[in-house]
Amino acid sequence: MFTLLNLVQPDTIEAAYKALVEKRNNIVLGGCAFLRMGSQRIGTAVDLSRLNLNYIVEQNEYVEVGATTTFRDIETNPLLNRYFNGVLPEALSQIIGIQFRNTVMIGATIYSKYGFSDLLTALLALDTEIELYKGGRMSLKSFLESSFEKDILTRIFIKKNERKANYQHLRNSCSDYPILNVAVSKLNDQWKIVVGARPQRAIIVQKASEELANLELNSKNIDRVATMAANEITFGTNMRGTADYRKCICKVLVKRAIMEVLQCK
Ligand SMILES: Cc1cc2nc3c(=O)[nH]c(=O)nc-3n(C[C@H](O)[C@H](O)[C@H](O)COP(=O)(O)OP(=O)(O)OC[C@H]3O[C@@H](n4cnc5c(N)ncnc54)[C@H](O)[C@@H]3O)c2cc1C
Repeated sequence: MFTLLNLVQPDTIEAAYKALVEKRNNIVLGGCAFLRMGSQRIGTAVDLSRLNLNYIVEQNEYVEVGATTTFRDIETNPLLNRYFNGVLPEALSQIIGIQFRNTVMIGATIYSKYGFSDLLTALLALDTEIELYKGGRMSLKSFLESSFEKDILTRIFIKKNERKANYQHLRNSCSDYPILNVAVSKLNDQWKIVVGARPQRAIIVQKASEELANLELNSKNIDRVATMAANEITFGTNMRGTADYRKCICKVLVKRAIMEVLQCK
């Protein structure tokens, strides 16, 4: 369990950022599920609950989601169930249980760039941008590749388009961390294959994604691309699975996800 020496609930994002950077051991609070697993001694904890960042709204070109929105809000949101074949609600629905998903927040999850994240894999397969208070707006891909700087993730923007998407994962049991997760999406002829929980963080499998645009999509060619995807990226070993096992599973999940996307309306 962590220890808080001080707690602030700022009314503005400027005040929240100022409090965050005042001292090295000051941090932002999300739903505290992950923080609770550690034993950190925190100087000032910055609670964002007064900043009205819990929302999901439809803009002209984007669906905008505030940082303190919970996983359960996403899972039950009619808009996000309608867009992208409901890939975001689907990706979150396997995480622990409903009470848990009622507390964990998207800002904490994205900012922390967890390797095992189900949300990051699904978001990366869509056209997602994120906004940091100090660092500004950028693609999720650039953010995941960037180095760590203390900041506050304020909101995300998911481009509204006709992208078809599917999410696949393998777990030892339904409430465990994923051994591997995969999201595949397609916008016209442009495909994205994303693999996460390798156990390193999610990445777009670039060459295999591009190859899909050039092929007749029959079972043999999909098999070939799934094998190519598994060979293009690296995997690691942890207590949930070996690198070799993950590589084998990757082929299967990528193939399944491509075939599901081809069926999407
Ligand atoms: C037991 C357990 C099992 C889990 N299983 C899974 C799983 O199977 N799949 C999966 O995808 N995820 C899983 N997670 C992770 C979970 O989904 C959340 O991603 C995680 O708990 C962080 O969310 P939180 O709201 O609890 O953040 P917190 O614990 O409150 O914060 C986590 C970190 O984020 C920082 N932070 C919070 N908000 C912001 C912000 N707006 N800007 C910048 N930094 C911020 C905090 O300072 C802290 O460093 C699991 C977590 C736990 C504890």
